[in-house]
Amino acid sequence: MSLSIAVVGAGFSGAVVARELAEAGHLIDVFESRDHVAGNCHTRRHDTGVMVHVYGPHIFHTQHEEVWNYVQRFATFKPYRHRVRAMVGENAYQMPMNLGLINAFFGTQMNPVEAEAFVTARADASITNPQSFEEQGLRLVGRELYDAFFAGYTRKQWGVDPKELPASILARLPLRFTDDDSYFNHPFQGIPEHGYTPIVEAILDHKGITVHLSTRCSRAQLATYDHAFWSGPIDAYFDFEHGRLAYRTLDFEPEVVAGDHQGCPVVNYCDASVPYTRITEHKHFAPWESHDDSVIYREFSRLCDENDTPYYPVRLVKEKAQLLEYVHLAREEAGVTFLGRLGTYRYLDMDVTIHEALKTATVVIDAIAAGSKIPSFVVDPLG
Ligand code: UDP
Repeated sequence: MSLSIAVVGAGFSGAVVARELAEAGHLIDVFESRDHVAGNCHTRRHDTGVMVHVYGPHIFHTQHEEVWNYVQRFATFKPYRHRVRAMVGENAYQMPMNLGLINAFFGTQMNPVEAEAFVTARADASITNPQSFEEQGLRLVGRELYDAFFAGYTRKQWGVDPKELPASILARLPLRFTDDDSYFNHPFQGIPEHGYTPIVEAILDHKGITVHLSTRCSRAQLATYDHAFWSGPIDAYFDFEHGRLAYRTLDFEPEVVAGDHQGCPVVNYCDASVPYTRITEHKHFAPWESHDDSVIYREFSRLCDENDTPYYPVRLVKEKAQLLEYVHLAREEAGVTFLGRLGTYRYLDMDVTIHEALKTATVVIDAIAAGSKIPSFVVDPLG
């Protein structure tokens, strides 16, 4: 049985479910409000020739081999190891925290065992079950490193006191007592040779899929399909009836410079006195290319207004209560499955987005085949 299916959003979530459902024989209309696919992963060639990550840096890294194999079907990935530097005052350090950073910051020449004992002695062992970003930071590295590298950056990035933020945000960053300065630990890492947009275009390139760019799809219109997937903001689907869920958005101040500005793709500015959080130099995401000029983005974070692009879900206590209201509504809603960063209001990396979209598609395809009820969520937004 072939169903007519609407998919709202042409980022990785929407593209992957559209493709899987099309391969299962269904007919898909994809509606994308922007004039391009790939959502916030969108990349575009700048006049200088540099491939620009239009919505900020995106590095593909995953521990899921099936996700890695999946993306290889649609693009050639070039080997890439992400390296970040962090500025504190006038000094540049390796980031994430490693042996080099610890020795440079404290002016020591410790070996890994000494450095671990040194940091452990400074860490706050009285915090056994960290409840906030700050507690997590103090428990992990102690006051000096926390204040220098995490407190100011995090306040700029999230706009609130780190005491109010969940510990899980810091859990994204490793702490190492070796000189390994690779930003991510995952076994599979790379950057698509021609940027992210062609991958998403290739995923959507199937005879069963029609893509409608610059097109919004109303709830009433969705109801004319046999089933719909919604990867847009969950609060927008319900016309914000419980208010708007808060997001952080980013502003970029682009500049073209001659040669090479900073020698690496991302430099974080940890001091609260510097207004931007980081500078991204895009050509370093494609070390296999060569360009005379360089494009840099100074990145500023602020609360997302109605007409801004949402980036990071805030998910503090107020937003979690609001989210619960929307999840209740969504669970009552027949004929729609919510997914993705905006559809489930979670801070997701690209690989997790793809992993969840594949899982969602499998569950829905099986439910259609079995004639059983299609769930509103395959991945629980509250989980
Ligand atoms: N962070 C920090 N200092 C840094 C880098 C990161 O305090 O130099 C904190 C900050 O709160 C950030 C979080 O760690 O939101 C996760 O960092 P990640 O690099 O994963 O952020 P993303 O690249 O997703 O913006």
